[in-house]
Amino acid sequence: LVDLSGVNKHFGELHVLKDINLSIAKGEVVVVIGPSGSGKSTLCRAINRLEPIDTGEIRLDGEPLPSEGKSLARLRADVGMVFQSFNLFAHKTILQNVTLGPLKVRKTDPKQAEKRALELLERVGVANQASKYPAQLSGGQQQRVAIARALAMDPKVILFDEPTSALDPEMIQEVLEVMIDLAKQGMTMVVVTHEMGFARTAANRVVFMADGEIVEQADPETFFTNPTSRRAQDFLGKIL
Ligand code: ATP
Ligand code: MG
Repeated sequence: LVDLSGVNKHFGELHVLKDINLSIAKGEVVVVIGPSGSGKSTLCRAINRLEPIDTGEIRLDGEPLPSEGKSLARLRADVGMVFQSFNLFAHKTILQNVTLGPLKVRKTDPKQAEKRALELLERVGVANQASKYPAQLSGGQQQRVAIARALAMDPKVILFDEPTSALDPEMIQEVLEVMIDLAKQGMTMVVVTHEMGFARTAANRVVFMADGEIVEQADPETFFTNPTSRRAQDFLGKIL
């Protein structure tokens, strides 16, 4: 579904993505881990083209990513993104946050968009907050709204960049549970996270990045019990 081949990206002198080759199948859950600065966020941002790449190619459903205009808006709808900082629109209600994309980009009928938004808010457990504003919700609730907002676009894949890192500990689990649920239902997901419990429960594959490279990848069981590279062993030694 998502194919990166020979992807390179520099920020000035800094080579942040080094010849990345990665294929993500439909329905697959890929957890990306690695030290700070290893290029995990840049990788996510490249996949929905928030960040242009220097060389190589990224394909979604066999099509090269578009670079501008209408097709770029459609790409961002097809590739959902959930960030560490929930990024909800502060001056719109929870319901409006979820209906906005479908109305603008998908040209969904307003009644239909609202109905679907309420279903999605129900699914992530915040339907009773629909008429409130983001600041009136807890961090965990806001992040669940952000997930509903991504789902409202019927994305082909959702990228999560450290979705629980900004949350108080007691709210992490409620967000992870929504994500585990999505994974079970067959959503294609790329998840950058330090939550190794999530990786063990939900990932089909763990990709370990260091210094702009994919150093190692394996199913979670293999990766956590038997990392082969020195860098992965060191990293796991520090976080587990
Ligand atoms: P973290 O775990 O801290 O989130 P990361 O693996 O997500 O790290 P990236 O954010 O992808 O790492 O950054 C990779 C490297 O690129 C880092 O050295 C970072 O400082 C640098 N970098 C990221 N964005 C930019 C930018 N817009 N301009 C210049 N350098 C950048
Ligand atoms: Mg990052």
